[in-house]
Amino acid sequence: MNKRILLIEDNDNNRYLFSYLLNSRGWEVLHAADGVSGLRLAGESDPALILLDIQLPVMDGHEVARRIKSNPALAAIPIMAVTSYAMQGDRDAAIAAGCQGYMEKPIDPDTFVDEVEALLPLAQRWQASL
Ligand code: MN
Repeated sequence: MNKRILLIEDNDNNRYLFSYLLNSRGWEVLHAADGVSGLRLAGESDPALILLDIQLPVMDGHEVARRIKSNPALAAIPIMAVTSYAMQGDRDAAIAAGCQGYMEKPIDPDTFVDEVEALLPLAQRWQASL
């Protein structure tokens, strides 16, 4: 099965950390550092899941999520928002934009991959564990 995750995140340290954690559990990670590049890669790479920062250059994460969910070819891809926003209502805004999950930075390295994988459809999780 496809063990590919698309990570759209403009912070180098976070890209390194998230990739390291996901790679160590067998995930291939593709990177984009801005919203427009991320949207393009989503269309080209058929990821199992998208990890999406909200504060991004060129196009913010909310707009990226809206465009993915309004594209029938991409709408089924689960999106996890990963954001350092700490204000009330951010979760709601991410969900309203089309994200199925929401995680706050700083992430917990001990639970990060489990939280990401929990967003995958059940059948895909089972296959990924084989
Ligand atoms: Mn950012």
